[in-house]
Amino acid sequence: MAEHVVIIGSGPAGWTSAIYASRASLNPLVFEGAITEENRMRGTLPLGQLALTTEVENYPGFPAGDLEGYLDNSLDSTRRMMMAPHQKEGVSGPELMELMRQQAINFGTRVKTDDIVDVDLDSTPFKLTSLSGEVTEAHTVIIATGASANYLGLDSEERFKNRGVSACAVCDGALPRFRDKPMIVVGGGDSAVEEADYLSKFASQVHLIHRRDELRASKIMAQRAIDNEKITIEWNSVVTEVLGNDDEGVTGATLESTSDGSSRDMDASGFFVAIGHTPNTGFLNGKLDMNEKGYITWTQPHRTNTSIEGVFAAGDVADDYYRQAITAAGTGCQAALDAERYLASKGL
Ligand code: NAP
Repeated sequence: MAEHVVIIGSGPAGWTSAIYASRASLNPLVFEGAITEENRMRGTLPLGQLALTTEVENYPGFPAGDLEGYLDNSLDSTRRMMMAPHQKEGVSGPELMELMRQQAINFGTRVKTDDIVDVDLDSTPFKLTSLSGEVTEAHTVIIATGASANYLGLDSEERFKNRGVSACAVCDGALPRFRDKPMIVVGGGDSAVEEADYLSKFASQVHLIHRRDELRASKIMAQRAIDNEKITIEWNSVVTEVLGNDDEGVTGATLESTSDGSSRDMDASGFFVAIGHTPNTGFLNGKLDMNEKGYITWTQPHRTNTSIEGVFAAGDVADDYYRQAITAAGTGCQAALDAERYLASKGL
């Protein structure tokens, strides 16, 4: 029998739509993603991008405070044991995601730790094929697969992935190979500043490499980088080569000045890329309308409808503008309500 609602993705958009859909007795099924090395490398493991961050300071409802007891009481004990200790400062990204996941399960959401790798949206019920080969039929689908980190695209960068090149400081920054060594972060947005700030806890020095003479990051975040004595901003610079060898992995990078074209090498044991994101829509094979950057287009103002009736999109996969946890959660809620109304209109 076809599912009423299948939700693909497990970030704030996915879990919020699951909470709303389960409370509406739609018995949703979430494909939270598979735990594979490929997903680890692409940053698309279950729980999404927030699971790759540290403290979340701007999600309403979680001011600084001790969440320990709340986490202990809310989460399944096995998953609680597997989590890093609470840092006693507001909420961390992984904690927030685990809490949302648990909240969805509390209302009856079913979860499969699997990826959807192919979709047939030509006729209803839709058919979704998972990595494990299972085919699930669904009357409505909510796509909440988010976005993942971009890389520069250099061959040398590819060569040293996992050996000093990373797009996730929180996942890899504390590795012994980076301790008290200089590190490089590329980018000028909030993510780059956040990564640089985090890495400065371990590194002897963090070089933040930005191609312009002004950060894109918000004022408060930019000031944090400027005030951090361990962060040096290398303005008007691009990376043309990641340097390294088979024994040590990354040893540095070659920078080129965007103002005078001059070139110089810089020592570093880590090379972290934070230059924006690409939406995770590959599994759709272009079967939904997308904008020029590949983000799914919402086809009606203030609705999460896509170009196919019964398919809704929520969160960063359809939002290249706000890209916040709270906006993703908001559109996740909208998508569940849109799916509920669509099902009611079809008498399903
Ligand atoms: P972003 O704001 O799009 O910034 C990407 C940065 O990478 C820009 O500075 C861009 O340079 C640079 N860049 C892009 N392509 C490049 C290339 N090929 N080579 C060199 N540099 C390149 O992305 P983001 O920092 O990931 O942030 C995304 C969204 O998440 C934003 O809305 C941000 O506010 C939000 N966010 C918020 C927080 C927080 O509030 N704590 C933390 C992280 C992210 P240009 O500036 O020259 O374009």
